[in-house]
Order: sequence, then C-alpha cells, then structure tokens
Amino acid sequence: MTSDQTSALLADRFGRRIDYLRISVTDRCDLRCSYCMPKGFCGFEEPANWLNFDELERLIAVFGKLGVHRVRITGGEPLLRRGLPDLVARLHRLEGIDDISLSTNATQLDRQAIDLKAAGLSRINVSLDSLRRERIARITGRDCYDRILSGLTAGKRAGLAPVKINMVVMRGVNDDEIDDMAMFCQSNEFVLRLIETMPMGKTGRTTRYLDLQPVRERLRRRFDLVDALIPGGGPARYLRSSDGRFNVGFITPISQHFCEACNRVRLSVDGTLYMCLGQDEKSDFRSLLRSGASGDQIESAIRAAIELKPERHEFRELPGKIIRVMSATGG
Ligand code: SAM
Ligand code: SF4
Repeated sequence: MTSDQTSALLADRFGRRIDYLRISVTDRCDLRCSYCMPKGFCGFEEPANWLNFDELERLIAVFGKLGVHRVRITGGEPLLRRGLPDLVARLHRLEGIDDISLSTNATQLDRQAIDLKAAGLSRINVSLDSLRRERIARITGRDCYDRILSGLTAGKRAGLAPVKINMVVMRGVNDDEIDDMAMFCQSNEFVLRLIETMPMGKTGRTTRYLDLQPVRERLRRRFDLVDALIPGGGPARYLRSSDGRFNVGFITPISQHFCEACNRVRLSVDGTLYMCLGQDEKSDFRSLLRSGASGDQIESAIRAAIELKPERHEFRELPGKIIRVMSATGG
C-alpha cells in the first residue's frame, strides 16, 4: 500500500483505524428480548426515514474507498427488511468490501439462508440465550425455539461459516446453562460468544449482570482451553480447545472493556452514524444523502464524523447515560 493510500484510510483522534461498519437495516423485531427491546415499544422509525438500498450502497461505497472492508448487517431483526439478499449482493460488488456478515435471531433464516449465501453473505451470528424452549419463550417473549433451531440448521447447511452463537449471560436467568451451551456449540461446530449485559435503555439496565471473568477461568479449566485469536473476533477474547475445533469468546464491556482496540462505527436505519455504542456522538447522513451531496462531500462528512469518536464508553461509570435500546442503534 502506498503512503497516499494509507493516508486515505480512516483513523480517529486516538490513532484507531476504523475498518468495520455495522449497518442496521431495521429497528423492528419479531422478538422482545428482555434485555433489548421493551415490551409494548412503539418508538420505531418511519419507513420514509429508512435509508433505501440505493442510499446505503452509495454511502457504503465511500466507506469502502476509505478502507472499511468489513460490514455487518444487523438491526432490530435484519431478516425483516424486505429484499435483504439484494442489499447483500449490492454490497458484495462494492470495491473494498471483502467481508459481509449478519447478526440475526434466525427465526426467518430457514427461508433466506440460501439466497443470502448466494448473494455474498459470509457468516452469521445468531442470538440464542438458552437451550430450553420455555426459557427462550420467557426471554424473547415468543415461543420461537424451533424457528431458531431450524434457522441455525439452514444457515449451517447453506455454508454460512462460521456460525457464532451469541448468548447474553444473565445472573439467575440462564447462567446455569453456560456449560450446556458450550457442549451444544462444540458438538455442532458453532463458535460460542458469551456477552455481558450492557446498560442500554431501561431494559439493558434492569437485566441482571454477571461478570464473565470467573466464568472464563472456569471454562478454561473445565474444557481444557487455551487463549486464542480468531479472525474477525472483534472485541471478544477467545479460548480454544487443543484440537482447534471449539472456540468460545467473551464480550466483556463491563468487566474488561477493549475500547482501545475499537475499530467500528454503527449506521442506524435512519442514516445516523453512531460513533460508540455507549456514547451519544453521532452524525446525520440521511439529510446529506438526500441533499444530493457529491462523493467528496460524503467522504468529508465521514472523516468529520470519525473525528467525533470518543475514547471509550462509560457503561460502568455512567450506567444511566444511554437511553437508546440496543435494537435502535444496531447491536
Ligand atoms: N436481532 C438480531 C439478534 O438478536 O442477533 C440483531 C440485533 S441484536 C440488537 C444484536 C445483539 O445485541 C444480540 O446478540 C443481542 O443479544 C445483543 N444485545 C441486545 N441488547 C443487549 C444488551 N442490553 N446487552 C448486551 N447485548 C445486547
Ligand atoms: Fe430483537 Fe435481537 Fe433485540 Fe432480541 S436482541 S429483541 S432478537 S433485536
């Protein structure tokens, strides 16, 4: 890479390279996970304010030019956005974008997995907090266990790999299932990611937090695991079995944050670019895109936005600060 090309890349005030964009394609969801979207929530964005696929393609092409090469599609529940394979195919064709992944609750994945894979989707992260039907119903507000499992099977069969399972660990709710989930993931060759609850919105704040550091040490001994780095691992720290077939990651924003290595920003469905999950710095790209801005103007706006990226979140010090729920930002 030449020095001109390097200086074109995005970096923030703290010297962090920004090469990863999360795109929320909807703030709606068919589930109501207790730590995420409040029951009866109706503060959804008007469809007229959603970035359409042309707008997303145009904006992400500029991010691609600036060195953002990884894109994760999320929400809300992204599979509720009509025509998602078309969006994936458009992003897959963009210069610079070499990795497209999806975070999903998988309830609709059995119908879409093959089309998404054909469109260029590489891999999936699936939310699954329990292996017990009634518990899943209690956590998500819907009896959806079979739908999730059939989505998972379809995703694996379609060749979306690796499949990662996101388990939000809640004290007294599902922390007795960590070992079962580890064995389930081991036997299905899924990567397990254990997540600490973040105080986002009232739902996140009232969820019972569990420190995952002791869990990590216990799993290390119980399953004979060693420290590992896995590609695309993001802020998770991983442990791996000696044969390399089982990997478990720990996303510990509260007990041990990794803000110093943060490489990402998040675009919400209405075109707001959020610089940090746990802070309010943001920039509006919908108005800019709809004002007929040129590519150069979009590039300057992206650079100005990245300048706003804060050093770190303050989930621990100021747990009441973020009133946005996770589904609104795009987790
Ligand atoms: N609906 C999709 C899903 O559930 O995977 C994608 C969006 S969801 C907001 C993305 C991730 O955020 C999920 O893994 C979910 O468990 C996680 N999440 C939501 N609220 C959270 C919270 N308060 N703390 C930690 N993780 C949270
Ligand atoms: Fe929906 Fe995902 Fe939030 Fe659950 S975590 S309510 S599936 S957006």
